[in-house]
Amino acid sequence: MAAKKYTKKQHKINIDDIDPNALEVLETLQENGFKAYLVGGSVRDLLLGYAPKDYDISTDALPEEVRDIFPSCFIVGKRFRLAHVRINRKVYEVSTFRKGDNEDDTLIYNDNEWGTEEEDVKRRDFTVNGLFYDNQKQVIIDYVGGVEDAKKNLLRCIGNPYIRFKQDPVRMIRLLKFRARFGLVPDEEMLEALFALRTEVLKSSPARLLEEFLRMLESGASVAFLKNLQEHGFLQTLLPNLAPYFETPVEQTIYNYLHVVDRLITAERKRPPRRSVLVACLIYPILQERLHEIYQRAPKKVHLGKIHQEANDLTIDLFNPVLRITKKILAEAVGIMQTQYRFTPLQKKKKLVCKIPNTPNFGCCLKFFMLRTLLEPGLTDLYNEWHYYYEKHKKNNPREDKPRKRNGRRRKDS
Ligand code: ATP
Ligand code: MG
Repeated sequence: MAAKKYTKKQHKINIDDIDPNALEVLETLQENGFKAYLVGGSVRDLLLGYAPKDYDISTDALPEEVRDIFPSCFIVGKRFRLAHVRINRKVYEVSTFRKGDNEDDTLIYNDNEWGTEEEDVKRRDFTVNGLFYDNQKQVIIDYVGGVEDAKKNLLRCIGNPYIRFKQDPVRMIRLLKFRARFGLVPDEEMLEALFALRTEVLKSSPARLLEEFLRMLESGASVAFLKNLQEHGFLQTLLPNLAPYFETPVEQTIYNYLHVVDRLITAERKRPPRRSVLVACLIYPILQERLHEIYQRAPKKVHLGKIHQEANDLTIDLFNPVLRITKKILAEAVGIMQTQYRFTPLQKKKKLVCKIPNTPNFGCCLKFFMLRTLLEPGLTDLYNEWHYYYEKHKKNNPREDKPRKRNGRRRKDS
């Protein structure tokens, strides 16, 4: 099928809005005789008027050929093999054109069969995600009708949604994510497939589901996303032990936390908090209720070790049946929640001493405390005091408490 081409005048993407490093990767591939386009989320974001978070590049070069061109490149992935090119500490994903079978509804375990550029976009999930941007001609190449759908604010599957969701049920979570993030309206057939195939997500890898879930918490549209999950029965499927709390008053407190985070990311353009802080937003309100129930009549001081244990057990219980939180996020989130009881102990103390503990990533604990002050302004003076002592502590111990840098870009599966 011939592709439709949209000129700059029609798509209105300004090339100056594109990350120069992404353009450099495209140009280097092109200078070496390969085809290369911007594809996926970045083209969608630019077309819809959002700033892309990251850039994916599609090419006819094989992963090994990409590696030979870029000294800073390494090949990652098994299910989906592709090249990571690192420039100025940012990672650009370069994937080779590949084909998929949009008629076969069996679960995809491995997606490494090379194909043409047209085949490459047709195996993608939604039409708005199936567009190429050609930097040389500054045109959008559209094999799937994504530009027209974007204009109509429509989210539509490439191919038959029943087949595409069975092939890869994570696409259903992605549907809810794009609906939440961009307010795109899913077409009717897709919504029917979503309803019918909801429990298929349990066949997907927990790591991929967790990744999509956490990315949404970081997206600035976490409230809308969770409401979407609830509305379509996915909260119950993905987080069966957490879902019942959304039928109780604690739901509102969880939404209040997430709302504050969304606002910081969107209105104040702050970087998303670490994932452990986001997990704490979901669990801490429930932990607070639980500790209150257990210890409200406790005559003595409650040991922080006990709180740590409760926080740990609760987080595992609420997250793990399907998504399985990673050990690292778990440890950090539990540390954050426990430390809140250092800031505001269950039993009020006469005089609180702001002694900065050795808790790893104490900055994250304080960050979560800051979120609490936005919901409970009465805590602000106390927060400021801890913040002051922490800044002083950092000056005296410059090497401590630097959260470890994320190692490049997290892998997702496509
Ligand atoms: P985000 O802004 O959250 O990164 P994205 O659309 O860029 O959203 P990625 O996971 O970065 O999502 O994937 C890049 C592109 O790869 C998508 O835009 C889409 O074209 C394709 N893709 C990703 N996941 C799938 C999938 N499960 N099935 C088919 N295509 C996919
Ligand atoms: Mg992306």
